[in-house]
Amino acid sequence: MSGRRIAVLGAGIMGSAVAIDLARRGYEVTLIDREAAPVAATSRWNEGKIHLGYLYGADPTLATARHILPGSLLFAEHARDLIGSDLDGHTTSDDDIYLLHRDSVVDPDAMRARFTAISELIREHPDAGRYLADVSDARVAELAPAELRAVAGADIVAGFRVPERSVDTRWFADRLAGAVAAEPGVTLRLGTTVTSAQPRDSADGRWRVRGDHGFGEDFDVVVNALWGGRLPIDVTAGLTPEPPWSHRFRLCVFARTRSAQEAPSAIVAVGPFGDVKNYNGRDFYFSWYPVGLVAEGDGLVLEAPPIPTGRDAEAFVARVRSALEHVMPWTGRVFEDAESTIVHGGFVYARGAGALDDPRSGLHRRDRYGVARLGNYYSVDTGKYSTAPWLARSLADEIAG
Ligand SMILES: Cc1cc2nc3c(=O)[nH]c(=O)nc-3n(C[C@H](O)[C@H](O)[C@H](O)COP(=O)(O)OP(=O)(O)OC[C@H]3O[C@@H](n4cnc5c(N)ncnc54)[C@H](O)[C@@H]3O)c2cc1C
Repeated sequence: MSGRRIAVLGAGIMGSAVAIDLARRGYEVTLIDREAAPVAATSRWNEGKIHLGYLYGADPTLATARHILPGSLLFAEHARDLIGSDLDGHTTSDDDIYLLHRDSVVDPDAMRARFTAISELIREHPDAGRYLADVSDARVAELAPAELRAVAGADIVAGFRVPERSVDTRWFADRLAGAVAAEPGVTLRLGTTVTSAQPRDSADGRWRVRGDHGFGEDFDVVVNALWGGRLPIDVTAGLTPEPPWSHRFRLCVFARTRSAQEAPSAIVAVGPFGDVKNYNGRDFYFSWYPVGLVAEGDGLVLEAPPIPTGRDAEAFVARVRSALEHVMPWTGRVFEDAESTIVHGGFVYARGAGALDDPRSGLHRRDRYGVARLGNYYSVDTGKYSTAPWLARSLADEIAG
């Protein structure tokens, strides 16, 4: 089917990966984004946890872990294919520590049992040896009281060490943006906001994509990978989203320290809490959910709030620091050594609603994302960064038949 023209809407991790995978199969791909560069939005400004399912310890069905595992276990291989180099030196090298908050929606006994069950799912998976670390013998280790005291401050009641890893998303965004720009079969159409996608005659025929600045072109296939901007375009295409869903915009802190810091990657769970990611001793990610959640809504689209700069950014960093120091006092020394901090963030779209402090909220599950299709129009809910390259590959396979 080479020579067919495909429009990929949105140049985040999903759109860029789909565009590269399709171009390498011989399609002529036009990749459209409103930003001035590829991979400039949420896929650049997130934490990069390559989920094994532990974060969704409040999902008693374990459906989230089952849904996420196949793609996350293959992240490193697919990512390497996309950018042409491996990820060594740009992922966390130690196990993540999950610290259970006293207001967690899951109690320590349930958490221990879920983590044990998730570890078993991982061990049984045929691709367990292909993750960023070898997890074919994945186990959860509970922190002894002295270990817990060393990493945890107020309000923490238990701690678990799990073999999850994370990727430095800014490093990967630069490599992926370079790879998609260099791919001969991909034409980049940046600075263009997509406004609609509609069939010319029938959904199985050609589709017209329209955008601002008078953009309007016909394509054989359209892939909507617009993430936060996806639903309004689905509606123009004739795909009606099924409620409930929610959009959130979250800000976090990306810091670089002057000197190498001995510090773990630790996450306070399960609920509206926060975390610290230590990518390489000097590059850190910090978040505190109630401070960073700056917009949310259940409309078709959520307006992106302004990114704080100057004094506002300093005040934001101070609030995140204060909240994190309360539960992990050692984070103060990492903030103290920061030579630069950037406040940035992105959208989270989820098929679920409610609040993270409610154990019944649908936000504690992430097992219903993927591709919806209407003839030659495909709409991709990326769901998670960690499974995006895998989902992109499956979609390219499907389009190629
Ligand atoms: C703070 C935070 C932390 C996160 N941490 C993790 C994590 O640890 N692990 C994990 O797996 N996931 C995480 N996520 C989720 C993850 O970041 C997203 O699932 C993923 O990046 C989405 O990728 P994408 O390519 O679909 O979206 P994006 O990267 O947002 O790409 C969509 C593109 O579409 C463009 N666009 C949108 N609307 C239009 C329009 N109308 N016209 C033209 N262009 C448009 C945007 O400019 C953007 O470039 C996190 C998210 C946030 C916000």
